[in-house]
Amino acid sequence: MIILGFGIVVALMGWLTVSSLLRLNDIRANIADIVTQHNEHAGLLRQMYQTTRDRSLILQKIISEADPFTRDELSVRVDELGAEFARLRSRFMELDLQPVERTLLEKQGLASANTKPLQYKVIDLAKAGRQSAAQQVLVQEVMPAQDAALTALNDLLAFQDGEIKRHAELAYNSERKAFAFLVAGGGISILLSIAIAFTVRTQIKNLIARLLATSRELEENARELKYQKIALDEHAIVSICDAAGRITYANRKFTEISQYSLAELIGHDHRQLNSGHHPREFFQEMWRIIGSGVTWHGLLKNRRKDGTFYWVETTIVPFLNEQGKPYQYVSVRTDITLIKEAEEVLHRSKEELEQMVAEQTAELREREAELHKLATTDTLTGIANRRRFNLALDAELLRADRHDIPLAIILMDIDHFKRINDTYGHPTGDSVLVEFARVVEANIRASDLFARWGGEEFIIMAPHVEGESARVLAEKLRESVAQFPFTEVGTTTCSIGATTYRAGESEQELLARVDVALYQAKQNGRNRVVMG
Ligand code: GH3
Ligand code: MG
Ligand code: MG
Repeated sequence: MIILGFGIVVALMGWLTVSSLLRLNDIRANIADIVTQHNEHAGLLRQMYQTTRDRSLILQKIISEADPFTRDELSVRVDELGAEFARLRSRFMELDLQPVERTLLEKQGLASANTKPLQYKVIDLAKAGRQSAAQQVLVQEVMPAQDAALTALNDLLAFQDGEIKRHAELAYNSERKAFAFLVAGGGISILLSIAIAFTVRTQIKNLIARLLATSRELEENARELKYQKIALDEHAIVSICDAAGRITYANRKFTEISQYSLAELIGHDHRQLNSGHHPREFFQEMWRIIGSGVTWHGLLKNRRKDGTFYWVETTIVPFLNEQGKPYQYVSVRTDITLIKEAEEVLHRSKEELEQMVAEQTAELREREAELHKLATTDTLTGIANRRRFNLALDAELLRADRHDIPLAIILMDIDHFKRINDTYGHPTGDSVLVEFARVVEANIRASDLFARWGGEEFIIMAPHVEGESARVLAEKLRESVAQFPFTEVGTTTCSIGATTYRAGESEQELLARVDVALYQAKQNGRNRVVMG
């Protein structure tokens, strides 16, 4: 804008100067032409005037001259002057004349033509010695005629004078106009220059004010940034690396935690801190993210110079150039080694605790199972005890009711067992009990529940066994026992009460019926089966 303004001013001034100079030059040349032309006109006219006047004077002399030779010489002179005048007049006529000049010249020509014979008349009278007559003709005829010619010449001279004045006036006006034009143009140029200068000054002032404000702002920002950097350096581990991953800056905390000096870090790769903890893909992913201009957050395990490790919570911010490509990465890290170690301890403790709990739970389960077994098993024979039988019977009776499943109960009692004890001793009695259990076990199904009812009494619960099958089973058992060769006592027998469950009856009723049946078998002579 300013340059454009100045350009316009310079162009305007140049144009003004050149056009004014050209104009002035034209005026000057014009004036010179006019002056030359009028000088020529006036010069010829003055000569003609002089010649005319000289002729008048010579005529006067001829009249007053007594010597005829001198008179002749003077009359020759008159002729010469006449010729001179004619020559001057024809020269004047050749000039570039205006109509007014031509009219006046014709007037003069007429007057001269009238004068000429009168002049010769005067000469002739003077030569004839008639001076007074000559004088009279001269005064009364020649001089008035000559006056007319001189008046015409005078008018021509006056016209020339007027023309010179007119042209001078014109030239003066033109010059004044050119000057006014130059002054006005110059003035406008100066005013324009002043306006531009003023605008430029205002703009520069505004610019300086803005620059000062910006500089103050920048100073404040720089100060703030400096404090922020100090705070950040005090708090965090900071480093900067270039696009190729070479470290270009590391703060004091970085050198402290890594144990590497600045000289060992600057210009080197961050890889020298690699702990080997993270897989290659981890870093490939990290570089993919920051390489695309996105900030990365993550936990990193690094290795110190002495080979020990430390954990840092890391934020890497990529700085992008005008093409949007990262030209440097600023990393801010926080030491979280203690937290990580505490986490590891906690993790370990948790695992140990879980293992302990699992072990103890298993042990407890074992013990519980053992206890359960103990609580429900007969220690001597290893089969179910009465408690377990009762519990199983409860459940089985419910099932039998719900699904209408038949169920046989067989109660066995060794005959005259007291005698065995008495004869062979208590331990032999025990071994008979054990062998008895083995014999019965070998003859029932896995789905049957066989239990020691107490002392030398045993009981069987056999699902899906009904009516006659119960008797067959009981008989088979009685037979097996009776035929079994007991280690120390040889043979022994048992009495059996057997029955099947009747829908709707109670447990007590069922057991009472089987008990009665057994009692009947004893009463009937032992080693027999009685159905209840
Ligand atoms: P019966 O033919 O009428 O059944 O005569 P019994 O002698 O078998 O009948 P009784 O009920 O009078 O005797 C049972 C005996 O069994 C009494 C007791 O000392 C013995 N006894 C009970 N429990 C055990 C045990 O665990 N071991 C041994 N060795 N003897 C036992
Ligand atoms: Mg008995
Ligand atoms: Mg008994």
